[in-house]
Amino acid sequence: PTILAIESSCDETSAAVIRGGKVLSNVIATQAVHEKYGGVVPELASRAHQQNIIPVVQQALSTANVNKTDLNAVAFTRGPGLLGALLVGSSFAKSFALGLNIPLIDVNHMQAHILAHFIDDPKPNFPFLCLTVSGGHTQVVLVKDHLDMEIIGQTTDDAVGEAFDKTAKMLGLPYPGGPMLDKTAAQGNPKAFEFPVGNMPGYDFSFSGIKTSVLYFLKDKTKDNPNFVQENLADICASVQYTLIKTLLKKVVLAAKDLGIKEVAIAGGVSANSGLRQALQDYAKKYDWNVYIPAFQYCTDNAGMIAITAHYQYLKGDFADQYVSPEPRMKF
Ligand code: ATP
Ligand code: MG
Ligand code: FE
Repeated sequence: PTILAIESSCDETSAAVIRGGKVLSNVIATQAVHEKYGGVVPELASRAHQQNIIPVVQQALSTANVNKTDLNAVAFTRGPGLLGALLVGSSFAKSFALGLNIPLIDVNHMQAHILAHFIDDPKPNFPFLCLTVSGGHTQVVLVKDHLDMEIIGQTTDDAVGEAFDKTAKMLGLPYPGGPMLDKTAAQGNPKAFEFPVGNMPGYDFSFSGIKTSVLYFLKDKTKDNPNFVQENLADICASVQYTLIKTLLKKVVLAAKDLGIKEVAIAGGVSANSGLRQALQDYAKKYDWNVYIPAFQYCTDNAGMIAITAHYQYLKGDFADQYVSPEPRMKF
């Protein structure tokens, strides 16, 4: 099937075209309007989606060299995400499908982050474990089949992406903080400072504690030396990043051992983190895992991942009707 997919859950307006499971185009318009606020402003995100969606869809179709009359279905992110942002993509998709008289496919954004692994080779073998780490979620997922997955662990408070972003903000790094912290950490010593790691039962996580501990650490250190942050920026970033990665992978090791699984993937925006990517490679050697790391363009929000998920839903006959509405807290 040839499918047009739309992603509009947060601050990326994206459209992709997929044919026979092969992504032909993946156009992403990142909204710069949020930079001066240091975070995503929901109302501004909705307005920017409304402005971006037509040109992004047009570009996705023309790059793929596909005419809209060639499409077999239109897919969109139903949730989770910001309601106003989701409304733009879902309303567009519903109208477009109605106008073309083709089926609609409603996609779960978090499932899509995982299924991004099925866009290119190598593809993970079922069952595999996926550590999904993004701006709003931190999950350990047991993936039994393309559309059959189970969350076996998750954060009980902040997402790890939030921990990256908030720490970066405290350190005075520009928005978006995660990628900047990653870059700065590369020049630092990960063992320079020690931060406490929240310990939750089972495969769950807690990331609100580290944020507070970094805050008090900085307060304490800058009391004696107001230039402490500037002088130790790389070491602080490297140490915080090291702690976050260690916390994440500890639970993956536990789950892999308990379930006897050696296929391990990472997904979501934070899977772009170079420290996490390297650490996963190291763990692969140590624990004899096959690991799967997404290409950068499929880590953060993109419609390519929505398209590949829609492809599998199409094959299963899993369609939505015109009564479908966005679900900001959609589960799977
Ligand atoms: P969700 O998928 O949970 O709904 P989201 O869509 O906002 O949330 P993504 O786009 O998947 O999240 O990921 C964005 C997050 O990834 C942000 O928190 C960002 O800081 C983080 N991130 C992106 N690149 C890196 C990096 N190199 N290092 C650390 N964090 C990063
Ligand atoms: Mg984003
Ligand atoms: Fe996302």
